[in-house]
Amino acid sequence: MIYFDYQSSKPVDPRVIESMLPYFDKKFGNPSSLHKIGDEATEILDHSRQAVAKFINAKPEEIIFTSGATESNNLALIGFALRNKHKGNHIIISEIEHISLHNIAKYLQKNGFEITRVPVDFYGQIDLDALKDSITDKTILVSINYANNEVGTIQEIAEIGNLCRERGIAFHTDAVAAESQIHINVEDNKIDLMTLSSNDIYGPKGVGVLYIKKGLRLNPIIIGGGQEFGLRSGTENIPGIVGMKTAAEIMEKEMDSEIATLKVYQKKLIQGVLDNIPDSYLNGHPEKRLANNVHFRFDGIEGESLLLALKDKDISVSTGSACSSKTLEPSHTLIALGLVHEEAHGSLQLTMGRFNKPEDIDTLLNLLPGVVKKLRGLSPLYKES
Ligand code: PMP
Repeated sequence: MIYFDYQSSKPVDPRVIESMLPYFDKKFGNPSSLHKIGDEATEILDHSRQAVAKFINAKPEEIIFTSGATESNNLALIGFALRNKHKGNHIIISEIEHISLHNIAKYLQKNGFEITRVPVDFYGQIDLDALKDSITDKTILVSINYANNEVGTIQEIAEIGNLCRERGIAFHTDAVAAESQIHINVEDNKIDLMTLSSNDIYGPKGVGVLYIKKGLRLNPIIIGGGQEFGLRSGTENIPGIVGMKTAAEIMEKEMDSEIATLKVYQKKLIQGVLDNIPDSYLNGHPEKRLANNVHFRFDGIEGESLLLALKDKDISVSTGSACSSKTLEPSHTLIALGLVHEEAHGSLQLTMGRFNKPEDIDTLLNLLPGVVKKLRGLSPLYKES
């Protein structure tokens, strides 16, 4: 089995699993308990907060553990909007946010907030002038992903951060796609709120973080016993949090060498596909893209039939975000890039990671031209240009 869908799910690193195991039975305490077993849990919770804070150059008290990126996005947008609505009711997002963020924005819109969706160019980069122009005196929050989870385009985060700071607007970024590919520094980039997910750095699913810059005020959206500084109640998922800690420590050490390897794979895949498959194109930015991402479109065929043909050959690929894969609608991200429906439907997303081997790339490059040719032979839509 060859796996090219690391953006939708990553295997948990065996070193991460190892570090989690004692916290299921031997060290099973609840950090809210005052006895020794509870103290042990408090201690590892504090260490985990420190490790994740270090990973993004934040302070430990700025890290809130959540159940994952969806919850972090909810807390960032809804928690901030509710607490700050006396300052204004306008929020800006981009057209190429993750589905969770789009749906949160729709929810806020139904509840009295105004939402502006800033467009992107053909490569998936935010139109900074449009962003500037959309700011009003009612704007309280801008939320733009660090890098796109489908086409891998990296945004000008420092510029967006500067702009928001100058205008006194809070800046949230969903960094889930970027966190395994970019050393993120929240201070340098003037980020006020940031979503992270454990699985995207080879930790367990169901754990995430919201970074909240010190001094920023949010309302909790999960109310209860007041854990996580009152911002996220519920007994902490200690094994999961320990997993995220270990994942962050490993990622910090190994990211540079991983990126170097992924860049070699990426270059080889892009060249190999564009040179050997006629009428194939790269979606997203040619340079400002995550090292783990390639995204192609092929005239005359459906990405889904390509996915199924490769599935038959034990190769796992994707046509876009797993969270939107059950709908027949084309990807909102590809449409925002300016692709027409047929082009969007003819797209294939390959995301690589820690456990890919050079042979995986060779195998795919050997198979793909034949598979595309065969599918095109069956397609009434395809005429070679
Ligand atoms: N944001 C982005 C960019 C994502 O790719 C995902 C899905 N991995 C999410 C948010 C939601 O993550 P989760 O399903 O773990 O809550």
